[in-house]
Amino acid sequence: MHELIAAPYLDHHLLVRPGSPKAARLPVHRYEELHTAPDTSAAPAWLADVAHQAWEIDLSGRRLGETVLVRARSPYGYGRASYELNLGCNYDCEHCYLGLKQFAGLCWPEREHLLHAIRDSGVLWLQLTGGEPMIDKLFSETYRLAYELGMMVEILTNGSRLAAPRSLTLLTRLRPNRITLSLYGATAESYDGLTRRRGAYRMFVRPRGSDPPHDHGSRGPEPPRRHRRLPDASHRWLHRLSALRHLPGMPAAGQGLPGGEGTTGQVLPTRDHKELNHDRSSSRPRF
Ligand code: SF4
Repeated sequence: MHELIAAPYLDHHLLVRPGSPKAARLPVHRYEELHTAPDTSAAPAWLADVAHQAWEIDLSGRRLGETVLVRARSPYGYGRASYELNLGCNYDCEHCYLGLKQFAGLCWPEREHLLHAIRDSGVLWLQLTGGEPMIDKLFSETYRLAYELGMMVEILTNGSRLAAPRSLTLLTRLRPNRITLSLYGATAESYDGLTRRRGAYRMFVRPRGSDPPHDHGSRGPEPPRRHRRLPDASHRWLHRLSALRHLPGMPAAGQGLPGGEGTTGQVLPTRDHKELNHDRSSSRPRF
């Protein structure tokens, strides 16, 4: 599988690495050099230098075809796309825009066709979303094909399936560009109340079977950290509210947020979902 992607992007050319936020801008003649070189040729010295400097990977002595996926230029010139795999979800959040959850999605031949069309339109950054994309029965296949076609894949998810062994194996071997998680509460009560799923918080923080598989492939053993660190991270964020108030342009202590939240540095109690619902219904405009 490729380690790098060389691709036209809008009016320039980029070298990117799945799972890394870094990118290198390629002069057009360097892109053309990669595009026309045989797969069996060795990675050129300049490419090995860039790869080492940017990502600390060693391409010396390796064949171009096994390290770099060179995307063709597209006549359409798109750069980004978002694909809603389905409109179903395993949560039932009160604020959800979906209404009736639709679990249906495209069948595999249609998805293959769609993903190729997205690739051919020039898309380099592809967002997979839903509904909840990771409960989709073809999520793994869809993710893998998007990755193999040379797109930098982002997943928008509620995180409930993120640490399932199958997901961990897939996402640690084929690294996503980014995972954006919805966080629905810092306690079991608030989280389960908002998502209207008893036990959802427990599954989110430490899902059953979340131990990472032993083999994470060649890209390192780090599993997603959020299921181990979430409570600490939430508390740290609350503490940082107080520090943020001292930055220019931020409201002074006691101003801006109801009750002067965060001004004393203590961890504040999480608001109960019934209280939030009460606030919402009492402030709802009446016609
Ligand atoms: S997790 Fe997102 S898609 Fe699912 S019910 Fe909640 S808001 Fe809707």
